[in-house]
Amino acid sequence: MSFPALVLSKQDQTVSAELTQLTTKDLPEGDVLVAVSHSTLNFKDGLAITNRSPVVRTWPMVAGIDGAGVVLESSNSRWQVGDRVLVNGWGLGETRWGCLAGQLRVPSEYLVAIPETMTAHDSMAIGTAGYTAMLSVLALEQQGITPASGPVLVTGATGGVGSVAVAILAKLGYQVTAVTGKTSEHNYLTQLGAAAILPREVFAAAGKPLQKEQWAAVVDCVGSHTLVNACAQTRYGGVVTSCGLAQGMDFPTTVMPFILRAVRLIGVDSVMVPIALRQVAWQRLASDLSADALSLITAATINLGQVPQYAEQLMAGQIRGRVVVEIKS
Ligand code: NDP
Repeated sequence: MSFPALVLSKQDQTVSAELTQLTTKDLPEGDVLVAVSHSTLNFKDGLAITNRSPVVRTWPMVAGIDGAGVVLESSNSRWQVGDRVLVNGWGLGETRWGCLAGQLRVPSEYLVAIPETMTAHDSMAIGTAGYTAMLSVLALEQQGITPASGPVLVTGATGGVGSVAVAILAKLGYQVTAVTGKTSEHNYLTQLGAAAILPREVFAAAGKPLQKEQWAAVVDCVGSHTLVNACAQTRYGGVVTSCGLAQGMDFPTTVMPFILRAVRLIGVDSVMVPIALRQVAWQRLASDLSADALSLITAATINLGQVPQYAEQLMAGQIRGRVVVEIKS
């Protein structure tokens, strides 16, 4: 059976993204075939589709690091035809054909059941970004942070990870300070539950190794000087999670926050997370992210043909929240 797919190809140093028809027999090995109804546009998809960073390691590549849909065929007893499933990471869209396509074939152990109360569209409105926000919150909880610990800083707050982190933390009772470069989106962040908003410029340049202690915890999505300054402002014994590099992959810090204030820096990865933690994260997303917040966060629902144009906008920092891709075979 044929289906549409966004295929990235490389010739010499030029990468092209083209909407192509593939057939089921083109797909890689795997014991479950999924009819993908929804995917999404994440920062990493933007990097791959616009060729801003070497995300794709084998060519040609079907783009898309996450997707949701129903099982079409399964030779594994864990999944039955018709089961609603989602998948993200595991190298999809990087080393293995991904989800911006009508069909996906994967090993059964990659898949997670979509929580009962969630539609496939909602699961991709959350997508890898929202799930990474939940992993960051779970990491803070695991380190003993509670709403009583004190205020939490979220950087890159109008982005996918940041928006979901603000909404979840606020719903859980945390006092959230959001950092954003978008002055036009203060109302949005307040609606998501931010108690205070700071401009991105405050964190963007090199600062002192130790600054006034303010945050019990930080969810950082942008790296570079912002992460350094956030660590320098974290209270004694506080926790900082690091998942992103929207400002840069550098980390020009000193050891001072760690050795004088016992600040803990916790790395958050979404790609190779064991399945048990994925299941916990998705169940918590079903309970701890309100429907109102998710609808506010969902910036647009687009079709496969619109993906390259939206990828450029995402990379230019022009998109607030999340973009869902609806796939019609
Ligand atoms: P988005 O593009 O949706 O959001 C990124 C946000 O960062 C922007 O909206 C903007 O927020 C802020 N930003 C952009 N450029 C800069 C800059 N130069 N300096 C400071 N802030 C900036 O991306 P996501 O939220 O989906 O992802 C955020 C980061 O997390 C990315 O780096 C992504 O690669 C990473 N990530 C990592 C994962 C992992 O497994 N570790 C999984 C998912 C994402 P504002 O305008 O509000 O300041």
